[in-house]
Amino acid sequence: MSSSMSPQKLISELISIEGLDVISEPSEVKRFSRDAYDYSPILKKKLDGCIADFVVRPGSVNAVEAVARVCTSNGIPLTLRGAGTGNYGQCVPLQGGVVMLMGGLRNVRTFDKVSGVVTVETGCLMRELDEKLSVFGRQLRLCPSTWRSATIGGFVAGGSGGIGSVRWGFLRDPGHLQALEVVTMEKKPQRLQLDASSSEALNHAYGTNGIITALSLATAPLVSWQEVIVDCKEWSQAVELLLECSRSAVELNLCSLVESSIVDQLPKWCGNSLSQHRLFLLVAPDGVNTIERLAARAGGIFNWIGEENVRSGNGLRELTWNHTTLHLRSGDPKWTYLQMLLPQPELPAMCALKERWGGDLLWHLESVRQQGVQRLAALPIVRWQGQKLLEEMIADCINNGAFLFNPHVITVEEGGLGVTDQDQVEAKKRYDPRGLLNPGKLKGWV
Ligand code: FAD
Repeated sequence: MSSSMSPQKLISELISIEGLDVISEPSEVKRFSRDAYDYSPILKKKLDGCIADFVVRPGSVNAVEAVARVCTSNGIPLTLRGAGTGNYGQCVPLQGGVVMLMGGLRNVRTFDKVSGVVTVETGCLMRELDEKLSVFGRQLRLCPSTWRSATIGGFVAGGSGGIGSVRWGFLRDPGHLQALEVVTMEKKPQRLQLDASSSEALNHAYGTNGIITALSLATAPLVSWQEVIVDCKEWSQAVELLLECSRSAVELNLCSLVESSIVDQLPKWCGNSLSQHRLFLLVAPDGVNTIERLAARAGGIFNWIGEENVRSGNGLRELTWNHTTLHLRSGDPKWTYLQMLLPQPELPAMCALKERWGGDLLWHLESVRQQGVQRLAALPIVRWQGQKLLEEMIADCINNGAFLFNPHVITVEEGGLGVTDQDQVEAKKRYDPRGLLNPGKLKGWV
């Protein structure tokens, strides 16, 4: 622990907080000091030894404020954790201190029937939130493929997009996040209500510049999404079809493509592999026949599975985004991955990279709306052959025009646009002047 405070004194201060569970059992402390960073062998090596001193679980915002008070007055690092499904070690406490589990705050506070805006506490699981929204005929606009187990606060603070990105873009696009309730780490911690503009700096900041206790999000009308699979023999034909589907006047919630050698390694609920490239789509009911027509025109094999059953654990959603990587790694943990926005036109860059890297780079594409424009993001599965070759591959992707979002780094900036967001740093100066929140993750502050 970086503070001069003794662990005994810290634990006695924490234990005296009403509505706070204190966890000090070493195996539990270790478990809650990790996330899904082991998808990256580089991060695994860097982060395996980072462990909190104590873990706490508040059951109320008052308890959150009390923890903030203990940490600020004693200079103790504080790292927030939702469900710990992040891939970049976002909730790993680099300097020890306290890890605070936010899962005890999970109430849906309000729902506005006219605007569809929901205000919910940070630890609510997205699965539960979506279920509650469905009663009002609404659904989440965006969710990660981990939506069943991940928290809404962890998604806003650590995620970026996923299912829904084909029509709604990314979480940081204006219009999704409407407001935040935040507890600060000032000398005297405050509970603040931030409007949409002031909330922007805390969106995707890894919990480095404020403790989010509740948030307001725009939602979308509920659609009975239909699961559709299309198989294509040729890669170029599959990519053209993916683009055509995403540019059509059909409402989509998911539009993904994986190359045939990935299909062969996906779990059973993916359907029988025809050893062809496969598109996974979630389509509005009135768009299924159009997708069928486009697939036939492209020479693809169309398969309408039926209405998505979100109550079953294994839908098409759980084959896409970083779940594709998860499934390949469960067969062979030597697989890792990259994330990038492909240049336009996409095919020449993909073909050049395939030619150089062959079976060590397997294409997985997601159609996304990027700043209002339909683009292709790629999360290729890549074979781990050491850091040097991975860096060579990254350089090769960049040289071929891709914009890389590196999943093998720990700071907000390096995993994002690569530049310091001064608003994020300013918010940290204001709300966490001692730099105690998730230290080491905001490069602009470091
Ligand atoms: P955590 O991992 O617990 O936390 C994430 C970050 O948020 C940390 O920095 C943490 O400190 C911070 N944080 C948590 N709670 C708060 C709070 N209350 N206030 C301030 N900061 C807080 N991500 C995507 O964006 N899209 C995907 O499609 C996607 N697919 C994935 C698939 C797999 C198989 C895996 C393993 C991961 C995937 N992820 C994806 C990453 C991750 O699952 C999501 O971003 C998820 O939303 C994180 O939520 P969480 O509750 O697990 O957050």
